[in-house]
Amino acid sequence: MERLQKILAQAGVASRRKCEEMILAGKVEVNGELVTTLGTKADPATDIIKVSGRLIRGENKIYIMFNKPKGVITSASDDKGRKVVTDYLKGITERVYPVGRLDYDTEGLLLLTNDGEFANLLTHPKHHVPKTYLATVKGVPHGTALDKLKAGIKLEDGMTAPAEVEYKDIDEANKEAVISITIHEGRNRQVRRMFEAVSHPVIRLKRISFGDILLQNLKRGSYRHLTKDEINHLQ
Ligand code: URA
Repeated sequence: MERLQKILAQAGVASRRKCEEMILAGKVEVNGELVTTLGTKADPATDIIKVSGRLIRGENKIYIMFNKPKGVITSASDDKGRKVVTDYLKGITERVYPVGRLDYDTEGLLLLTNDGEFANLLTHPKHHVPKTYLATVKGVPHGTALDKLKAGIKLEDGMTAPAEVEYKDIDEANKEAVISITIHEGRNRQVRRMFEAVSHPVIRLKRISFGDILLQNLKRGSYRHLTKDEINHLQ
């Protein structure tokens, strides 16, 4: 953590004295909040610092959680003109990239950042970051199907690592079940392929956590910045 006027001066905004005047004049914002007290500290690596609405550090790292609706592409642009996740990030001026991806029809927690190192760390297979999904599946799987998913299942690109699997809800009338599944890998369409392999295709898929980060009640289509604690937990 460093004093705000020092961060501003080092970013080339003005002299330290002039930066103090800007703070007192109410021109400086940290993470969306006006700061008018001298001596306030900020973290130049993670805080979003603006002067008169302008981002002062191009290298400011930002970390966002987004509740992706289904029918949206995990990408910054689409040549067929379909909706993409960055369409929802109004107010974010930095170029951010998704950390891993969710299928077009999958909804839920998606992280986005402009910190490439952080994104690589989290998506690298050797880090085994657990990701939990709620899968609504066709039919009501027996214990043996769930045991197979837990133990690891043979897919065309090899065995899956052990997963945690738990019943959440059973809809006998519609012959559907909601199952929570935590995987430690991130292969393409992995959860869908796992359930297909036990003959219970996924009807609806929602990611509810990524590492220690929980989606909780973030509204569908909305985003928020991660807290410092959340960022530190992931690193
Ligand atoms: N597994 C899937 O099948 N789809 C996703 O979007 C994520 C995990």
